[in-house]
Amino acid sequence: MSGLEGGCACGAVRYRLKSGPMFVNCCHCTDCQRQVGSAFVINAIIETDRIEILSGELKPTPMPTDSGRPHLVYRCTACGTTLWSDYGDRKVMSFLRATTLDDRGAIRPDAHIFTRSKLPWVQLPPDVPAFEGYYDMKSLWSPESLARRAALSVR
Ligand SMILES: [Zn+2]
Ligand SMILES: [Zn+2]
Repeated sequence: MSGLEGGCACGAVRYRLKSGPMFVNCCHCTDCQRQVGSAFVINAIIETDRIEILSGELKPTPMPTDSGRPHLVYRCTACGTTLWSDYGDRKVMSFLRATTLDDRGAIRPDAHIFTRSKLPWVQLPPDVPAFEGYYDMKSLWSPESLARRAALSVR
Protein backbone atom coordinates (compact mmCIF):
# COMPACT_ATOMS: atom_id res chain seq x y z
CA MET A 1 0.00 0.00 0.00
CA SER A 2 2.95 2.37 0.29
CA GLY A 3 3.83 4.75 -2.52
CA LEU A 4 0.21 5.75 -3.14
CA GLU A 5 0.20 9.16 -4.76
CA GLY A 6 -2.52 11.62 -5.58
CA GLY A 7 -3.33 15.25 -6.12
CA CYS A 8 -5.83 17.98 -6.89
CA ALA A 9 -7.54 18.77 -10.19
CA CYS A 10 -5.09 21.48 -11.32
CA GLY A 11 -2.01 19.47 -10.42
CA ALA A 12 -0.52 22.04 -8.00
CA VAL A 13 -1.03 19.82 -4.96
CA ARG A 14 0.66 16.44 -5.08
CA TYR A 15 0.94 14.08 -2.13
CA ARG A 16 2.19 10.63 -1.30
CA LEU A 17 0.91 8.35 1.43
CA LYS A 18 3.66 6.83 3.56
CA SER A 19 1.44 3.85 4.37
CA GLY A 20 -2.04 2.56 3.80
CA PRO A 21 -4.89 4.11 5.78
CA MET A 22 -6.15 2.83 9.14
CA PHE A 23 -9.68 2.42 7.82
CA VAL A 24 -11.79 3.54 4.87
CA ASN A 25 -15.31 4.90 5.36
CA CYS A 26 -17.80 5.25 2.56
CA CYS A 27 -20.10 7.86 4.05
CA HIS A 28 -23.66 8.39 2.82
CA CYS A 29 -24.57 11.15 5.31
CA THR A 30 -26.36 14.25 4.12
CA ASP A 31 -23.45 16.54 5.10
CA CYS A 32 -21.03 14.60 2.93
CA GLN A 33 -23.51 14.42 0.07
CA ARG A 34 -23.92 18.19 0.09
CA GLN A 35 -20.26 19.02 0.60
CA VAL A 36 -18.93 16.82 -2.19
CA GLY A 37 -21.97 17.18 -4.44
CA SER A 38 -22.30 13.46 -4.95
CA ALA A 39 -24.02 10.37 -3.58
CA PHE A 40 -21.32 9.58 -1.02
CA VAL A 41 -17.72 10.26 -0.08
CA ILE A 42 -14.87 7.79 0.36
CA ASN A 43 -12.68 8.85 3.27
CA ALA A 44 -9.40 7.07 4.00
CA ILE A 45 -8.54 7.69 7.64
CA ILE A 46 -4.82 8.18 8.08
CA GLU A 47 -2.32 9.86 10.37
CA THR A 48 -1.73 13.40 9.05
CA ASP A 49 2.04 12.92 9.25
CA ARG A 50 1.75 9.96 6.89
CA ILE A 51 0.56 12.31 4.15
CA GLU A 52 3.68 13.71 2.56
CA ILE A 53 2.93 16.89 0.60
CA LEU A 54 5.17 16.86 -2.45
CA SER A 55 4.04 20.18 -3.94
CA GLY A 56 1.38 22.85 -3.78
CA GLU A 57 -0.40 24.64 -0.97
CA LEU A 58 -3.50 23.78 1.01
CA LYS A 59 -5.79 26.02 3.01
CA PRO A 60 -8.30 24.89 5.63
CA THR A 61 -11.92 25.95 5.16
CA PRO A 62 -14.25 25.61 8.17
CA MET A 63 -17.47 23.70 7.48
CA PRO A 64 -20.65 24.12 9.51
CA THR A 65 -21.51 21.09 11.67
CA ASP A 66 -24.59 20.11 13.66
CA SER A 67 -22.46 19.20 16.65
CA GLY A 68 -20.59 22.49 16.71
CA ARG A 69 -17.30 20.62 16.60
CA PRO A 70 -14.89 22.03 14.06
CA HIS A 71 -14.62 20.40 10.66
CA LEU A 72 -11.82 21.76 8.53
CA VAL A 73 -11.68 20.93 4.84
CA TYR A 74 -8.23 21.23 3.27
CA ARG A 75 -8.31 22.53 -0.26
CA CYS A 76 -5.79 23.36 -2.96
CA THR A 77 -5.31 27.14 -2.86
CA ALA A 78 -5.16 27.24 -6.68
CA CYS A 79 -8.15 25.14 -7.78
CA GLY A 80 -10.15 24.50 -4.61
CA THR A 81 -10.17 20.70 -4.83
CA THR A 82 -10.69 19.16 -1.40
CA LEU A 83 -7.88 16.75 -0.58
CA TRP A 84 -8.75 15.84 3.02
CA SER A 85 -10.75 16.77 6.10
CA ASP A 86 -9.83 17.19 9.72
CA TYR A 87 -12.86 16.41 11.88
CA GLY A 88 -12.57 18.07 15.26
CA ASP A 89 -9.45 20.06 14.30
CA ARG A 90 -7.36 17.28 15.83
CA LYS A 91 -4.38 17.92 13.50
CA VAL A 92 -2.96 14.40 13.82
CA MET A 93 -5.64 12.47 11.92
CA SER A 94 -7.01 13.19 8.46
CA PHE A 95 -9.87 11.92 6.34
CA LEU A 96 -8.33 11.77 2.89
CA ARG A 97 -10.68 11.96 -0.09
CA ALA A 98 -9.71 8.58 -1.52
CA THR A 99 -10.71 9.41 -5.09
CA THR A 100 -7.98 12.08 -5.25
CA LEU A 101 -5.52 9.19 -5.54
CA ASP A 102 -4.09 8.61 -9.00
CA ASP A 103 -5.15 4.99 -8.69
CA ARG A 104 -8.76 5.55 -7.67
CA GLY A 105 -9.40 1.87 -7.25
CA ALA A 106 -6.45 1.28 -4.92
CA ILE A 107 -8.47 1.96 -1.77
CA ARG A 108 -11.78 0.24 -1.20
CA PRO A 109 -14.29 1.06 1.53
CA ASP A 110 -14.07 -1.06 4.68
CA ALA A 111 -17.55 0.05 5.73
CA HIS A 112 -20.57 1.94 4.43
CA ILE A 113 -21.89 4.34 7.04
CA PHE A 114 -24.97 6.53 7.51
CA THR A 115 -26.81 4.38 5.01
CA ARG A 116 -30.09 5.74 6.42
CA SER A 117 -29.60 8.69 4.06
CA LYS A 118 -28.16 6.64 1.20
CA LEU A 119 -29.67 7.57 -2.15
CA PRO A 120 -32.22 4.91 -3.10
CA TRP A 121 -30.53 3.91 -6.35
CA VAL A 122 -27.16 3.19 -4.72
CA GLN A 123 -26.66 -0.57 -4.35
CA LEU A 124 -24.34 -1.59 -1.53
CA PRO A 125 -21.96 -4.51 -2.04
CA PRO A 126 -23.09 -7.52 0.02
CA ASP A 127 -19.57 -8.31 1.28
CA VAL A 128 -18.84 -4.93 2.95
CA PRO A 129 -20.31 -4.06 6.38
CA ALA A 130 -22.98 -1.35 6.25
CA PHE A 131 -24.46 0.70 9.06
CA GLU A 132 -27.48 2.97 9.42
CA GLY A 133 -25.32 5.43 11.34
CA TYR A 134 -21.79 5.18 12.66
CA TYR A 135 -20.24 1.91 13.84
CA ASP A 136 -18.37 0.41 16.75
CA MET A 137 -14.75 1.04 15.86
CA LYS A 138 -13.38 -1.57 18.23
CA SER A 139 -15.25 -4.39 16.56
CA LEU A 140 -14.52 -3.33 13.01
CA TRP A 141 -11.01 -1.87 12.87
CA SER A 142 -8.07 -4.26 12.81
CA PRO A 143 -5.95 -4.47 15.99
CA GLU A 144 -3.09 -2.84 14.07
CA SER A 145 -5.26 0.11 13.05
CA LEU A 146 -6.66 0.50 16.56
CA ALA A 147 -3.10 0.62 17.87
CA ARG A 148 -2.17 3.25 15.30
CA ARG A 149 -5.17 5.34 16.31
CA ALA A 150 -4.44 4.87 20.03
CA ALA A 151 -0.91 6.18 19.41
CA LEU A 152 -2.44 9.49 18.29
CA SER A 153 -4.21 10.05 21.61
CA VAL A 154 -7.35 11.37 19.91
CA ARG A 155 -10.82 10.98 21.29
ZN1 LIG B 1 -5.21 22.44 -7.47
ZN1 LIG C 1 -20.59 11.84 6.04
